[in-house]
Amino acid sequence: MTDVPETPSVLDLPAFEPGWVWLVGAGPGDPGLITLLAHHGLKKADAVVYDALVDDRILAMARAGAELIYAGKRGGKPSPKQPDISNRLIQLARQGKRVLRLKGGDPFVFGRGGEEALALVAAEVPFRIVPGITAGIGGLAYAGVPTTHRDTNHTVTFVTGHAAGGDVPDTIDWAALARGSGAIVLYMALKHLDHIAGELMIGGLAADTPVAVVSNASTTHQRVLETRLADAADDVVAHGIEAPAIVAIGEIVRLRDGLDWLGALDGRVLKPDPLGLRADRRVG
Ligand code: SAH
Repeated sequence: MTDVPETPSVLDLPAFEPGWVWLVGAGPGDPGLITLLAHHGLKKADAVVYDALVDDRILAMARAGAELIYAGKRGGKPSPKQPDISNRLIQLARQGKRVLRLKGGDPFVFGRGGEEALALVAAEVPFRIVPGITAGIGGLAYAGVPTTHRDTNHTVTFVTGHAAGGDVPDTIDWAALARGSGAIVLYMALKHLDHIAGELMIGGLAADTPVAVVSNASTTHQRVLETRLADAADDVVAHGIEAPAIVAIGEIVRLRDGLDWLGALDGRVLKPDPLGLRADRRVG
């Protein structure tokens, strides 16, 4: 078991009242990326209802004796229906328990945290939201890809490649994204990457737009595939890259040559000028 101390009392963290639900982000994977509030909640919770993708070492931070309830997909079985999960939270809270709903990344980013919270509102169960580090930001950071950089992009768009029914959402204007977004970060997009890349190229993105696919970001199984838009879908298959994965599209990916700090731990030599801009810049 990890030896994690109690959160410092000097912070005056909020009390976890019985009958409350805390909707908590667990971050992208690395247990070190949970917040102090998440840790505090885990130490106080009576029941922890957790999703797939939540690291065992985070669960191990829960108070000894806390009930751990799995609410994700396992072994190819379908995941519990969303209303069932929400009802379970309501039921546990009504039993007077302190209920911690632990979700991967940030609960409000493609995580149905909003749906669960609204169910709590309808049931008049009090709740608190504890944001987490989302995979599309923190996971990319572990791959050495910043979501913004002044030399590459002033906008970034977070997109899901997967609608409720499993298809690519039909409300996305890919051409507008291709024209207007300096960087695109795709969640849940591996399955439809071929289609999405095609749409973005029809919309005007160059075939050689840099792409990074980061699977299991921030975990010990992290893998990063660097490719270009036209080849991304084939390369994912060829290299056996598996979900969960984040796909970053745009010049931000080129910064990885300078910012792959994890690679540097393994001896990769980082380039201070990965975009090749410094040569034509006057240093004043
Ligand atoms: N609420 C989560 C997202 C849930 S949707 C968040 O804020 O991060 C699930 C998708 O998140 C996955 O399909 C994948 O695209 C992404 N994801 C979550 N954890 C990841 C990880 N460790 N590495 C890469 N992608 C991840």
